[in-house]
Formats: sequence, C-alpha cells, structure tokens
Amino acid sequence: MAVTFGDVAAAHERIKAAAKRTPVLTSATIDALTGAQVHFKCENFQRMGAFKFRGAYNALAQLSAPQKKRGVVAFSSGNHAQAVALSGKLLGVPTTIVMPTDAPKVKLEATRGYGAEVILYDAHNEDRQKISEQLAAERGMTLIPPFDHPHIAAGQGTAAKELFEETGPLDLLLVPCGGGGLLSGCAIAAKHLSPQCRVIGVEPVAGDDGARSFASKTLQIIRTPDTIADGARTASLGEKVTFPLILKHVDGFLTVTDEELLNTMFFLWERMKIVVEPTGALAACALLQKKLDAKGRKVGVVISGGNVDLAWAARQLAR
Ligand SMILES: *Cc1c(COP(=O)(O)O)cnc(C)c1O
Repeated sequence: MAVTFGDVAAAHERIKAAAKRTPVLTSATIDALTGAQVHFKCENFQRMGAFKFRGAYNALAQLSAPQKKRGVVAFSSGNHAQAVALSGKLLGVPTTIVMPTDAPKVKLEATRGYGAEVILYDAHNEDRQKISEQLAAERGMTLIPPFDHPHIAAGQGTAAKELFEETGPLDLLLVPCGGGGLLSGCAIAAKHLSPQCRVIGVEPVAGDDGARSFASKTLQIIRTPDTIADGARTASLGEKVTFPLILKHVDGFLTVTDEELLNTMFFLWERMKIVVEPTGALAACALLQKKLDAKGRKVGVVISGGNVDLAWAARQLAR
C-alpha cells in the first residue's frame, strides 16, 4: 500500500494540536567526535515518551464515528500500547490493550493510567494476534497494528518532516528500525524534502532481518530477537506496507550490538543530558560507533524514545 508525502503532510495537520513538536538538539562534542554536523530529533520528549504517539493518533483520528464508538484493540508490551491508550483518551475512543502477563509493571500501570482496558495473556502459551483478532471480531473493535498500516507509517513520518523543516536539506538521515513504520515514514519525508539525502535504517545485530530483507529483496522472518532494544524485537518488517516502502525509499541498513547500545545510552545521558531507551539510541549508536563515515556531512539522527527503567539502566552502568 503506497504512502505518499501528501499523506505525511495530512497526518501532520491532523496530529499537530495533540502531538509535541519535539526539539532538535546539537552537541559540539559529538560534532567534534564525528567530524560531522549532527542534528538529533528528540522523540524521547514526545508525549508518552516516544514517536509512536504520532502514528497511533493519526490512525485513531481517521476512524469513522461508529468505529470510534466501538473502540480499538492493540497488542503490545511497549510504546505502541501507551500510544494507542493515550490517543484513545484524547479522542474519546475506548481502548483495549492485549499485554503479556510478564510486561513491566510500570508499562501496565501507564497503559491503565491512560484509561485503557488491559487484557493479559500468557506470552509462552497464547498467541496475542489471535486473541486480539478474536476480541476485535466479538466486540466490533478495530485492530490498530504497531507498524504495518499506512496511517501509522504516515504519522511516524511527521517526525522527519519536522526535522527537515528545522534543518533544511541533509546529507544523511539515520533512523532506528523495528517493524519499519518509523523508517518508512521518515524516508518518504526525506526523499520529498531533501531528495539527495541518504536514508539508513539501524537495527540491533540480533534482529538484522531488515538488513537481510533489504539486501535480498525478500522478506526475512526471524524468531523474536534477543536484544535489549525491546522496541526492535520484531520478527520481520511489515509485509503489506513497510517492506515495500523501505525497498523504494531507503538506501541501506546498519547494525549495532547491545554492548554498543548501552555505551551510547550512557554517552547521551552524560554528554547531552538526555534519557534515551536502548531502541531509541540505535541510530545515534551507528553514528557514534562510526559504522559509517559521516565526516564533513550534515546528518540527521532520530532519537526515537526515552522509556527506560532507570533502576535497570543503573544496574547496567554499574557493571
Ligand atoms: C517501536 C519503536 C521503534 C521501532 O519502530 P518501528 O516503526 O517498529 O520500526 C524504535 N524505537 C522506539 C523507542 C520504539 O518504541
């Protein structure tokens, strides 16, 4: 399903009043280290702490009146759950979120705090997709997928649209990638607003299915990857929407290790004074670990989220 820059621009109008226009930060230290001019689009400051609010709000806002009344269902243990719950609260749409029994307590509470009904399932023995589809059928609710939907991808692309509006054309744009909603949306915005810009997706090494799908032009499906980047623990890119868009608009992929990600999280914490979750640090990590030569270039980096358990992070730091 094609998504165009027109869709991203329309999404921007739709979400503008509700979403934050997040800051674009720079750092003299990082410019000196990389020899580049780096601009960080900081979605860790977005509502609910990640860019996922953009796509969820854009999708919910476009439901028909009867669909809004019947409500929506989503399955997620992470940021998509909170994004759908908060969007539902703001738009008066009832939300049901299917979450694993072992989801972090803070995330369960945050999701309930936004007024969602949480339905727990056993991640080891039950299929969340099936449970969600059943709920949707029984209750007449609309299923809101986390990435493989044109309204989700268009909404996520508004992050890059805002970045280019602030920086002008860039040579390079680095974007974290799980299922590819953020990457495909941002690539559409980049190719329209700065056609010469190379767009690179960054994944954890353990979940390099996107890089392999891109190289082989065939969708690769893997078992849930074991990585601290929980927002990128996806089995594949989206077959219907995000994979075709990525083949069309993205220029390449890079991967980073969990160890490198942790170092980047602490570096961003210390030097830029910003709290970034592991998945949120993927793109910054590829740049700081010099996975590509950015010397002399004007570079955009999407910091995608900041929802990290600080007690966990402190334990990693102490090691
Ligand atoms: C979901 C998520 C991603 C990955 O986004 P996709 O659209 O699935 O590629 C990256 N970072 C954070 C913080 C996320 O929550």
